[in-house]
Amino acid sequence: MAEVFYDEHADVGSLKGKTIGVIGYGNQGRAQALNLRDSGLEVIIGVRADETRRQARDDDFEVFSIREAAGKADVVLILIPDEVMPQVFTRHVLPELAQGKAICFASGYNIAFKLIEPPEGIDVVMVAPRMIGAGVRQRYLEGRGFPSFVGVHQDATGNALKTTLAIAKGIGSTKSGVMLLTFAQEAELDLFTEQALGPAFGQVLLSAIQTLIDAGYPVEAVMVELVLSGEFAYSMQKIVEMGFFQQMELHSHTSQYGSMTRSVRFMNPQTAQTMKDVLEEIRSGAFAREWEAEQKAGLPVFNQIKEARNLHPIAEWERKTREAFRLL
Ligand code: NDP
Repeated sequence: MAEVFYDEHADVGSLKGKTIGVIGYGNQGRAQALNLRDSGLEVIIGVRADETRRQARDDDFEVFSIREAAGKADVVLILIPDEVMPQVFTRHVLPELAQGKAICFASGYNIAFKLIEPPEGIDVVMVAPRMIGAGVRQRYLEGRGFPSFVGVHQDATGNALKTTLAIAKGIGSTKSGVMLLTFAQEAELDLFTEQALGPAFGQVLLSAIQTLIDAGYPVEAVMVELVLSGEFAYSMQKIVEMGFFQQMELHSHTSQYGSMTRSVRFMNPQTAQTMKDVLEEIRSGAFAREWEAEQKAGLPVFNQIKEARNLHPIAEWERKTREAFRLL
């Protein structure tokens, strides 16, 4: 198993006296900045002049331009969307990365696929929470942890891992444990979840909905049965808490027997092969190159698919169901 670190392996004190510059004040930026400050560290924010700048000021942070914050900080946390990061990094952060500083990513993507090539002489580390920003903050306030993947891409000072673990502890993650991975492993796992599990599950769900609607069941009944009652989501939560098979004990014997005997019919070798192909595309960098080209072209495919997606009747089915069951 890859190495896992907990609270006892990390020392927030190693960052005392240093300035942490959080670039971006969105999902992760706000949560991590608040947690790090509550952990006793000196945190400043670097953002563009608009909405999130106001939010950071309202939260009583000292706020600067991205370049100024990168210049003042000893440790720079870059917490802006991955797709804008290379440009922002090159223009506003790179010129301020003096030797001995550290830059911390919350995703391995740009380093793994060489969209950002950091200079020598700085530490390049990763603390990538397996948790949305709101959860990062909420769990911290509740005194509970959340898992993260951490990594060291470049250790110029000899202290890169120490810095990584201190940040991970400062945001509250080492309470659960943080696993040491490469930037590439983190990015590939993340993309695979988005490109294989998510779409496969989405297609299965749409097939189930369509099968029942085609068979003549009322749309509202189908939607509430399969999704909107929250029963299925509850079972997913129980999988997390109890285990994939153990949670079955919460269901009736009829449900268990029917599910176990029919599950084999859905074992589709084609799905496994498609997943392998998707993984290969991710690992080879083909996806990252495709996505970069798509952005440079002004997102034609992205916008076209979004438009087509809006033509699907599911949003209307959901609306009618919420209305029928007063789920609004
Ligand atoms: P957000 O989309 O929430 O980031 C918003 C922030 O980025 C705002 O401050 C916004 O400023 C700024 N920003 C957006 N575009 C630009 C730009 N072109 N130039 C300068 N600033 C810009 O990002 P996330 O928090 O979702 O993601 C940050 C990092 O965390 C990513 O690496 C992501 O992969 C990682 N991550 C995210 C998770 C999540 O929960 N979303 C989970 C785990 C990791 P403005 O208001 O000016 O637009």
